[in-house]
Amino acid sequence: MARAVRDAVEAKEHLAVQAGTGTGKSLAYLIPAIRHAADSDGAVVVSTATIALQRQLVDRDLPRLADALEGLLPHRPEFAILKGRRNYLCRHKMAAGMPDDEDDQLFDPREVSATGRMVQRIQEWASETETGDRDELVPGVNDQAWRQFSVHAKECLGAQRCPSGMECFAELARERAGQADVVVTNHALLAIDAMEDFPVLPEHDVVVVDEAHELVDRVTSVVTDELSEGTVGVAVRRVGRLIEQGLADRLQEAGEDLAALLAAAPPGRVDDLPQSLALTLALVRDAAFACITALGPRNKDKDDPENAGLRKATFTALDEVHDTAQRMLDAFGADSEADRAEVVWLDEGRGRIPPTLRVAPLSVGGMLRDKLFGDRTVVLTSATLALGGSFDGMARQWGLTGDWTGIDVGSPFDHPRSGILYVAKHLPQPGRDGLPEAYLTEITELIEAAGGRTLGLFSSMRAAKAATEALRERLDVPLLCQGDDSTSQLVKQFSADPATCLFGTLSLWQGVDVPGESLTLVVIDRIPFPRPDDPLASARQRHVAATGGNGFMSVAATHAALLLAQGAGRLLRSMDDRGVVAVLDPRLVTARYGGFLLNSLPPFWRTTDPGKVREALRRLTADA
Ligand code: SF4
Repeated sequence: MARAVRDAVEAKEHLAVQAGTGTGKSLAYLIPAIRHAADSDGAVVVSTATIALQRQLVDRDLPRLADALEGLLPHRPEFAILKGRRNYLCRHKMAAGMPDDEDDQLFDPREVSATGRMVQRIQEWASETETGDRDELVPGVNDQAWRQFSVHAKECLGAQRCPSGMECFAELARERAGQADVVVTNHALLAIDAMEDFPVLPEHDVVVVDEAHELVDRVTSVVTDELSEGTVGVAVRRVGRLIEQGLADRLQEAGEDLAALLAAAPPGRVDDLPQSLALTLALVRDAAFACITALGPRNKDKDDPENAGLRKATFTALDEVHDTAQRMLDAFGADSEADRAEVVWLDEGRGRIPPTLRVAPLSVGGMLRDKLFGDRTVVLTSATLALGGSFDGMARQWGLTGDWTGIDVGSPFDHPRSGILYVAKHLPQPGRDGLPEAYLTEITELIEAAGGRTLGLFSSMRAAKAATEALRERLDVPLLCQGDDSTSQLVKQFSADPATCLFGTLSLWQGVDVPGESLTLVVIDRIPFPRPDDPLASARQRHVAATGGNGFMSVAATHAALLLAQGAGRLLRSMDDRGVVAVLDPRLVTARYGGFLLNSLPPFWRTTDPGKVREALRRLTADA
């Protein structure tokens, strides 16, 4: 892999590398990356999807490499971590220089809420932190508390004008990144750097995208916009302090009309724009525009330093409301549905979150091709990239065309000897109405044979909870369910006691790394196809079909293959690990698409015989 990365960088050709767990893939890209940085006197950017990998690179791999390579290079390799501005404490906002949209709720004297306590903790931490980096605040805090002390890039005053600019945490992080050979960042900032007109990352001609299977989802999130009672409300509260009340009231009324429409509308994809929604979106847009106009010239802040923070934040909130309403109206502008490039959908409200209208592109491939892959060499790597044995599916989503190569450097594990893939072919197909009794019996028997030691990966939180509730009565091993505590705490408990089982959904499919005997059995209840009502996946599927492709295989099966491979990848985490991946959904071996999914999984020894698998689990448990 190190040679392939070096060759790709030298030839300026994009490279996709599938490298299994335990390969040492981070060293295999960091070494050629550091060499390129030293040769070119520039920086190489390494992007990750998770904080865990960021930490591993910055706390473990890069310091060790810097020590090892120091004498071999003209200078000791330097590295830095850089995130989006929202991830750092904003000193200016801390000094109460900017609007606080949620103050009233937080400091309600009747209730010192959990969020209020988090706010206090941030304030204490602020006096001692050297980086202001949110991820260094342990335990973490929720978004609502963090928002009180951080700003979006568009709300920042700019270091030149900001009274705290000289000691700004985000600016200091940028400065450090500017001097580094390797800059570690996340996919979101990588996307923002590629797409915005102003650069946020230091100049670079090579990017390594680790955890590349997450790239499309993370980039899609960056370019998804939303409109709700809440987003309009923030703009109204801010602008109300700066302009004549009548105009702010007009925006508030338009926001209330929108809220009423969204509350009455069914959640899901919006294929045809109802006239009432079109009118209300136009009202919201025009009211926001009137407020923007009333605020006067944007550079007026210079004469009004007192209000500079509030004005900047107000412009940002109003621009967002205006531009999103316009973007949603434009999304329906094409003559035919097949020509539309954007998807609009309504998410129903949950608790304090109101119903929210969202808009996202059908595909981010073109954007990635033009903006990210255009003038850089990109190395994309993950344990799971070759779906159905081919890189084509992922390459299509990334928008990569002719100029790339893909290699699978394999895995250090001996999959056929270390693991069994068991498919419960005798079970009925999973239905819509929860877990059938036969599934619960099957899981019980498997867990009994394994003596606990089970990670249950369910396709929905409802199924995970139902299984936990039912099986707690049948099994005498401890059973944890996602949501009982923080996920990291649950994983800690699970790995500390082999008899304990852990059930959960999406974040466990990808985020659990438990080597050793505590994880001997991975149970997967059903093939994780996107939900039929998933607005983006269903729109993408329909679009592929309308343009002559196989929508189901390109979208739903590809999504399922990726998650299945990630889920199955939880089993073997070290060379001594042994165990079973049990997929209860018989369609994995009976359906036509089953072969594609099976080809996406590691080459475990396969069986559909429940007796054999239980026997194997009992033997493994006895040996442990
Ligand atoms: S420069 Fe921007 S982020 Fe930094 S302290 Fe000032 S307003 Fe906050």
